[in-house]
Amino acid sequence: MPDTCIFCDNEADSDEHLWPDWVHEFIRKNGIELGGLRTQIGNGPEVIEYDLEKKIDTVCHKCNNTWMSQFEQKNRPRFLKMLQNEPFTLDAGGMKIITEWAVLKSMVLESTKPRHGNDPFYTREERIAFHEHHEIPARTRVWVGALDGFHIGGHTTDFTINGDGGKTRIGTGFVSTIYMGYFVCQVATEHFYPGVPVDQIPPIDPPPGSSNSKLIQIYPQVSKKADWPPAPFTNGGPNGIAYLMQRWRQGEKVSMVTKDGVVRLPDPTS
Ligand SMILES: [Zn+2]
Repeated sequence: MPDTCIFCDNEADSDEHLWPDWVHEFIRKNGIELGGLRTQIGNGPEVIEYDLEKKIDTVCHKCNNTWMSQFEQKNRPRFLKMLQNEPFTLDAGGMKIITEWAVLKSMVLESTKPRHGNDPFYTREERIAFHEHHEIPARTRVWVGALDGFHIGGHTTDFTINGDGGKTRIGTGFVSTIYMGYFVCQVATEHFYPGVPVDQIPPIDPPPGSSNSKLIQIYPQVSKKADWPPAPFTNGGPNGIAYLMQRWRQGEKVSMVTKDGVVRLPDPTS
């Protein structure tokens, strides 16, 4: 049976590049040599990401050529500046449409990832609501940052959310780090198990690290304006992009430590 489009009921019949044609064209025209992006944590294996030709086959032709391509087009003027590392002021409207683009890319990237029998992270309801109403999934945050070289690619990872002083697993988080030119964005969404009193849980913060000062949160917006670029991430080294990709993970678990200390949850069964 053919797969269904991740955003609607049509058959997934598209076979398109993840990165839009105009970006491929920009790279060609400017003779940009794409180097691999080094990601390594500690003594772990070094991974080189090089993903310009990445294809997607999980959406339908109609979605791809209507609203999805409109999301790309709306962002094109700002992305062109970012592809050339040209400074500009990111305003509230820009933050909104970059957020939509980042969530779109996050959902699409996730759909291309082998699941090893697991359910996809984003639910069908979240994907349909995003397509039909441009609704950003609940408990999602988006940040943007800068790179000191021209790279293109995406990286996704899950993290475990533990409550009750780290003892009980109460949910899962999903993080996408997407970079295009000198621009990088990160999307994090949290899902909790049924019965967990989500309203009482503040947004989960990653363990403190060097990445935080180099990121601008654009969703939910904390400021109406921001200067781009901020201090950039580098390809390897102490300010390396790997720290951004891995900032949510410490080993396999991220404890629910917030600014106020560890959040202890009421027992959902009592
Ligand atoms: Zn579709």
